[in-house]
Amino acid sequence: MYYDKLIFEISTDNHVGYSLPQSNIKPHTLDNTFLRDDELYLPEVSEVEAVRHYTNVSFKNFGIEKGFYPLGSCTMKYNPKINQDISNNPAFHLHPNQSLNTAQGNLEIYYETQRILSELSGLDAFSLNPYAGAHGELVGLMIIKKYHADNKDTKRTKIIVPDSAHGTNPASASVAGFDAIEVKSNEDGTVKLKDLKAQLGDDTAGIMLTNPNTLGIFEKDIIEIAKLVHEAGGLLYYDGANLNPLLGKVRPGDMGFDIMHINLHKTFSTPHGGGGPGSGPVGVKAYLKDYLPNPQIVKEDDTYTLKTNDKAIGQISHFYGNFGVYIKAYTYLLTIGKEHFKHIGQNSVLNANYIKESLKDNYKLPIKAICKHEFVFDGLKDKSSGVTTLDIAKRLLDYDVHPPTIYFPLVFKESLMIEPPETESKAAIDNFISVMKQVAKEAKENPDLVKNAPHTTIVKRLDEASAARNPRVKYRDLL
Ligand SMILES: *Cc1c(COP(=O)(O)O)cnc(C)c1O
Repeated sequence: MYYDKLIFEISTDNHVGYSLPQSNIKPHTLDNTFLRDDELYLPEVSEVEAVRHYTNVSFKNFGIEKGFYPLGSCTMKYNPKINQDISNNPAFHLHPNQSLNTAQGNLEIYYETQRILSELSGLDAFSLNPYAGAHGELVGLMIIKKYHADNKDTKRTKIIVPDSAHGTNPASASVAGFDAIEVKSNEDGTVKLKDLKAQLGDDTAGIMLTNPNTLGIFEKDIIEIAKLVHEAGGLLYYDGANLNPLLGKVRPGDMGFDIMHINLHKTFSTPHGGGGPGSGPVGVKAYLKDYLPNPQIVKEDDTYTLKTNDKAIGQISHFYGNFGVYIKAYTYLLTIGKEHFKHIGQNSVLNANYIKESLKDNYKLPIKAICKHEFVFDGLKDKSSGVTTLDIAKRLLDYDVHPPTIYFPLVFKESLMIEPPETESKAAIDNFISVMKQVAKEAKENPDLVKNAPHTTIVKRLDEASAARNPRVKYRDLL
């Protein structure tokens, strides 16, 4: 409410290397009506008490550092600590208004990260500015919109999105001012070509696809799809959330995509799941380069500098986006090295298929094909005990395994979506397989044990319907 008054004066002292704009902001004194009469109660504890508290809380939490985290669609992989260490190095923590000649090192990281992402994806130019995958989608769609507008092709108002797509795809299309048109999928989530052909026309602005799709199946007709969409005058947008299995093997640019985003917090070493910070760089083919958001970072005579382009869709983030994430990605890119990216893709595909084949006698496998990095079971193979996917997920907690994604995608009733990234050892994967087999056995022999799980966690089975409808979110409500 009155936060806008709580502005501190920005120092205009000329610190070494900083050139802050002259500020007219004066410090504010708060009106007495906003001041408290009594002293603020701040409980005090000793350092050791505080450390013990947070350490104990961290033990109660489940994270990738505690155990296997096969959350499909999210790529919860272990991110090497060196990336975080380097990102924490104060040498990189510059003021965003610092003069460019004192920030060359950071700009080089930005520029080089773009360059390597270009090489890995087959797209010619990148902007790291967007904050997340969904933000990247919006930026990509704004580029598509501006491109068609510049060509005076304004009747292109439709973006085609498969029915199996991530929810952000139609949402972004709609936010960008397009109509999201659904195209039907085959049983394995691949695009129904016949249906696609029927949808394409002179009102098609583009199509959004993720490949491999949400069911972990590679879109084998992608070259044909690209040809059809391009012939109709539309552009192809690649949702890069599923890039992990393709790393070093196949490039979206070579499949015919014009624009894509990459979730650095899925594929390139920033932990996610806590709501950020993330980063969703957007890449484009050369003919769309000028549309990338401002500012663009360019290299001229070995000096890095900023460029604003009139053709650009505008500025979509403050300064240059989430810089700390780029340092992690850049460190990761350099430590893995060009030659070894293919092992990331290979191992994630091998791990997923190994689990799929090992468990298909216990769990219902609707799509038998070789998958990429993830696959979906439709609950237990033998459902006579009445044990559901939710029960299985809860029982896994008793074995210290984070449940897979459940009830997504929506195409199956009891979806259990498993993604073991490349960072898991065979021992961890074998342990997961034996736990999953054990739970299937319990479901048969002692279904109540599974239906009432979890038994070992601090909080037992939650009443999820009440939690959603009547959430108690205030600290005092919980006392
Ligand atoms: C995660 C994800 C997104 C959205 O990315 P955010 O970074 O969470 O905004 C889009 N599509 C797919 C397939 C995803 O898995």
